[in-house]
Amino acid sequence: MPGGLDAFSMDGLATRATSRRLPDGLAPCSSGDIPHAVQSQIDRFEVALNNLTQGVCFFDGSRRLILANRRYADIYQLSQEAILPGMTLEEIVDLRFVAGTCPDMTRSEYLAWRATIQVSDEPTDTIVELKSGQIISIHHRPMPDGGWVATHEDITERRLAEQQLAHMARHDPLTGLSNRAAFRESTHREAARRESGNSVAVLCLDLDHFKHVNDTFGHATGDALLCAVAARLRGAIRASDMAVRLGGDEFAIVQIGVDQPSQAADLAARLIDILSRPFDLGVHQVIVGTSVGIAYSQAYRADTDALLTSADMALYRAKAEGRGTYRFFEPAMNEKAQARHALERGLRSALANDELELFFQPILNARTQTLNKFEALLRWRHPERGLVQPAEFIPLSEDLGLIVPFGEWVLHEACRAAAKWPDTISVAVNLSPVQFNEPNLVHVVGQALRASGLSPDRLELEITETVLLKNTQTILHTLRRLRDLGVRISLDDFGTGYSSISYLRTFPFDTIKIDRSFIHGIGSETSSLAIVNAIVTLGEALGMSVTAEGVETDEQLRTLRAERCTDVQGYLFSAPVPSADVAALIRKLSPAMVAA
Ligand code: C2E
Ligand code: MG
Ligand code: MG
Repeated sequence: MPGGLDAFSMDGLATRATSRRLPDGLAPCSSGDIPHAVQSQIDRFEVALNNLTQGVCFFDGSRRLILANRRYADIYQLSQEAILPGMTLEEIVDLRFVAGTCPDMTRSEYLAWRATIQVSDEPTDTIVELKSGQIISIHHRPMPDGGWVATHEDITERRLAEQQLAHMARHDPLTGLSNRAAFRESTHREAARRESGNSVAVLCLDLDHFKHVNDTFGHATGDALLCAVAARLRGAIRASDMAVRLGGDEFAIVQIGVDQPSQAADLAARLIDILSRPFDLGVHQVIVGTSVGIAYSQAYRADTDALLTSADMALYRAKAEGRGTYRFFEPAMNEKAQARHALERGLRSALANDELELFFQPILNARTQTLNKFEALLRWRHPERGLVQPAEFIPLSEDLGLIVPFGEWVLHEACRAAAKWPDTISVAVNLSPVQFNEPNLVHVVGQALRASGLSPDRLELEITETVLLKNTQTILHTLRRLRDLGVRISLDDFGTGYSSISYLRTFPFDTIKIDRSFIHGIGSETSSLAIVNAIVTLGEALGMSVTAEGVETDEQLRTLRAERCTDVQGYLFSAPVPSADVAALIRKLSPAMVAA
């Protein structure tokens, strides 16, 4: 813009633009005739000048205004008529002081500052904040005669948008707490500022039972709870500390300048106390509680990620040791975490390396003791550790999402194996709740049946109550579609979840499997027997067969038969066996069937 005006020759314009029409804001300095070509130039210039989004003004060497465009007056909330060529800079500044569109300084301070810019030979860019709240970007360009051209741009909106973006990048939108990025940045900055020897503590916490609140009362209540937690955290820390939402129900506190680990412990105890008090969330009163993991560093290094990881490991320990408590990080925790990472790495390649295996455990009719079906149970043959049990790797596979390909493999393998057994023997396959998040589950089951040629009524799918906890309508729809394929559905580990009986109403399961903890208790606790009795009665009333898991003794078997339990499974008959041993087991348990 200034370059373009140079080419137009400002001096000529100012002196010759007289009796004819002049650009707004431009007054005549002398008179004379203007050739037509020049007048057209002036007209074009006027249109261009007054349509700029920037304010433009020209001053001569004696600090007098040559011209200013309409936008200049607008930006500073001045009447356009008041800005006249020939005015001094001081006069304009006076008008701006009256309008309140000057920076927060006195008139003489402001003029002194302008003077420093004016004497500079170099173009200057300045951002000025006005008392009116506006933010103006000024580009000052000196002219050879001692005058200058300045462009003024109101960047208030842009600045606000930038600030908002910067805020959003560093804050959690739900709770307004700092986010992980802000946590990293601030602790890095703090590290740079501080001399070595200053210490810091990072406290990691997550809410106990948050998932339960979310599942029971819905996400709106879950969100309200997170906001209320954030408010309590903010109230519990000093201004120099920082509260961060790491994600989900995970929070962290950065405690700066902690002289003693005990100070971090005090804060942890206080946080546990304030978060265990009930939360009033409109219609619901909710009680959660928290566990805290602490990483304390005396010689504060900038490795914030390492501190956070350590605090997280300590949190893991705190939760494992009973919740509602805090633990400091210890190096041994790191070894455990390393072991978990090693397991994770191995698990990721288990399927590709052909390390998964299916074992099969027989399920028999309790009365006739004939073989009905086998439950397929997954094993991982680890190259160094040998056979790994599901309790050790299934939860991790679920966390990592690996259970989806694993589950698909299990379905195919189990159906393929069962297709070779006598027709009267079915196969039961366990499904993880995570598999129900996949929209193609029904398709995968159908594929396994088609590929193996197994009749659908010989496949039983075992699900746990956890599947039904979430998003019930979608889950029920999936279950009905599975049932439409012709497969049977059973409810596994019954009695260990939250409100088991209501789930029996939501879907017509074919089978209820009583959790083995009740079978174990049959001989010793009357309550276990009462529960078994109640479940069998329920099953009969609802037309569902009842399988007892974990039958280990003859006495348990006798009792279960007396209780009219339909089917039995357990070490008394056989532990799960590798697929190579299934044929022999069938011969042993059902010689008649094999002969037939
Ligand atoms: P589950 O489905 O309840 O399987 C029964 C578990 O009880 C099996 O443990 C079995 O070995 C064990 N068991 C059977 N009879 C007895 C007994 O008489 N006494 C005792 N103490 N235990 C007995 P396993 O094979 O370790 O499997 C544990 C759990 O892992 C299974 O519980 C199931 O929830 C899960 N699981 C196994 N395979 C798969 C799979 O392919 N997919 C999924 N999603 N989960 C699986
Ligand atoms: Mg099972
Ligand atoms: Mg079970």
